[in-house]
Amino acid sequence: MRKKDKAKKIQEILDELYPELEIPLQHTSSYTLLIAVLLSAQCTDLRVNSITPKLFACASTPEKMQVIPVEQIEEIIRPCGLAPTKAKAIQKLSEILVEKHGGEVPRCFIELEKLPGVGHKTASVVMAQAFQEPAFPVDTHIHRCAKRWGLSSGKNVVETERDLKALFPRKSWIKLHLQIIYFAREYCKAVKHDAAKCPICSVIE
Ligand code: SF4
Repeated sequence: MRKKDKAKKIQEILDELYPELEIPLQHTSSYTLLIAVLLSAQCTDLRVNSITPKLFACASTPEKMQVIPVEQIEEIIRPCGLAPTKAKAIQKLSEILVEKHGGEVPRCFIELEKLPGVGHKTASVVMAQAFQEPAFPVDTHIHRCAKRWGLSSGKNVVETERDLKALFPRKSWIKLHLQIIYFAREYCKAVKHDAAKCPICSVIE
């Protein structure tokens, strides 16, 4: 099957499996989403969701977050791992948002990626999920699926993102990135996958 045809078939299957999806990271604003995505680096969404209520009860805006002692932030987010680095990034980026962006999260890849602790994937999630701007954030789950489906032989997430963007319609990128993550977690796990129970590979060969 040609890559374009595979992509179309996969999208049809994912639309049937996951017609509606919730954003996995709980948030109430573009700022709280940005912080939650930053915390999710090398951590599960479940764990992030278990600590963010406490963090956002202390501060849910950059104005409030910038005045909390960094040690206090670090203590709250410790279960997420990389706490010292993430705490410093949260406080510094909050300061920058207040000083340079009027307390708002910028709707712009370039400005987002200038913030401490914010790489291209984090910026893509915020652009897609907070602002509904076309973006295709590729994490390890999507990278793995794209390779197994023969849609990309990208050596890294940047190359995989480029390949997937070329194969799927721009208007579907935001929904698809979530659908693939949900699918990867349910069926296409890193260690073990059961081809007999899976609705995709058997129909795209
Ligand atoms: S059979 Fe399913 S679980 Fe296995 S690689 Fe293909 S899509 Fe992933």
